[in-house]
Amino acid sequence: MVSTSAPDSAPSGFAGVGAPPEAVQGLEPFEPGVDATSPNRNLAPITTTVDQEGSLVVGGCRLEDLARTYGTPLYVLDEATLRATCRAYRQALETFYPGPSLALYASKANSSLALTALVASEGLGLDAVSAGELLTALQGGMPPERIVLHGNNKSEEELELALAHSVTVVLDNWQDVEILSRIAPGRRSPVRLLVRFTPGIECHTHEYIRTGHLDSKFGFDPDQLEPVLRHLAGCRWAWLDGLHAHIGSQIFELDPHRDLAGVMADALGLARSLGHPCSDLNVGGGLGIRYVASDDPPTIDQWVRTVAEAVATACEERGLSLPRLLCEPGRSLVATAGVTLYTVGSRKEIPGIRTYVSIDGGMSDNPRPITYQSRYTAVLADQPLAAADGSFTVAGKHCESGDVLLPDIALPQPTNGAVLAVFATGAYNASMASNYNRIPRPATVLVHGGEAEVVQRREQPEELLRYDLLPPHLQPIS
Ligand SMILES: *Cc1c(COP(=O)(O)O)cnc(C)c1O
Repeated sequence: MVSTSAPDSAPSGFAGVGAPPEAVQGLEPFEPGVDATSPNRNLAPITTTVDQEGSLVVGGCRLEDLARTYGTPLYVLDEATLRATCRAYRQALETFYPGPSLALYASKANSSLALTALVASEGLGLDAVSAGELLTALQGGMPPERIVLHGNNKSEEELELALAHSVTVVLDNWQDVEILSRIAPGRRSPVRLLVRFTPGIECHTHEYIRTGHLDSKFGFDPDQLEPVLRHLAGCRWAWLDGLHAHIGSQIFELDPHRDLAGVMADALGLARSLGHPCSDLNVGGGLGIRYVASDDPPTIDQWVRTVAEAVATACEERGLSLPRLLCEPGRSLVATAGVTLYTVGSRKEIPGIRTYVSIDGGMSDNPRPITYQSRYTAVLADQPLAAADGSFTVAGKHCESGDVLLPDIALPQPTNGAVLAVFATGAYNASMASNYNRIPRPATVLVHGGEAEVVQRREQPEELLRYDLLPPHLQPIS
């Protein structure tokens, strides 16, 4: 369990009575309101229920029916959960921060036209880190003034695209400054900028997803902050909106975010003393979610309250007028809304060792287990509440021994053809999917009130050949 930093404590808010089998622990009761105001603390989408036949339902749609209609693997996204998380962030910011605020969706967590349109309709902004994410945001209807372009190695083309649409650019390093000072002068208005720096905050999450400590590829080193701020003060093409820092991902502690406020307020004071108006403070994302019952993340309210109060206090202590507070949730905004459906196929029993059951997807649609040893919770869609018959290792269909989605998970007999539902896959699954072994990427359906809408089409094997070219001397002889 290296993917999380939470103590291995019992989840609060779930009845321990009746000791449900491990696989469904924490999913009970399957009804909205387990914590509908902070879906990141739930294992399943907030609309999850069980129908009269005992089959799992999300967004009013029976998951077995979705699997039959749209095929598997299938990403299912619950609209009600997505809207609930967006609203939780907005409302908490309005409640706990005495100044203006904006939550930006870190779209790398799951980028699509539909998700963009949905978060835009909830009044959020969006982070993009590439031309692809930026185009998705623009075409999905996100107002450009609510888009921020990140990236530690932005190309000139990506920066051109951002400038063409007046998107805010986060300066990550001197290369960004160099490119912009070539392409930005002479435009109608100065480029709106945030400066990202590494705040030197340690937090205990997986090593790969820590970004706020000093040995990080992201952002200006603290000792470069003053030089870059001084440099920008002399650039007429530059307008410094504010500062940015992001300390990591899947974080369960609140203290690092509290500490971050002080570091950022110091930087804000410095920037303003150098003549920058600096109206924005962007504290990044990182709030964790519950993947397995023992995970115990803070609520969205607690996280926002901690950040908001810490920023307000730190500014007050330094005599700084309140900046607009920006934050950038990715995982905690979309993960819990997602459920992936697979069909169970072959089985291999190794007596005395383990029983493998294989599903029709794996590391290509969810690379998190093989990348971060991440754990997930899963049930059989037709009998989510049934007692476990034993422990099974659910393996993917890829040519890697490490392609194991769920090592040792308690389930009822996963028979051939059964539909397996894996929870909390709305973030960093579809967006990290690959075509390894030339396996087409799954479709995504958005469910709401009993209706399902395909928002990302399933790839077809033939489509994977689209970019292949055969040079003349290798043409097969017919
Ligand atoms: C990844 C990232 C986020 C979102 O992180 P989550 O842990 O998914 O909330 C926000 N800001 C930046 C700069 C990021 O790189």
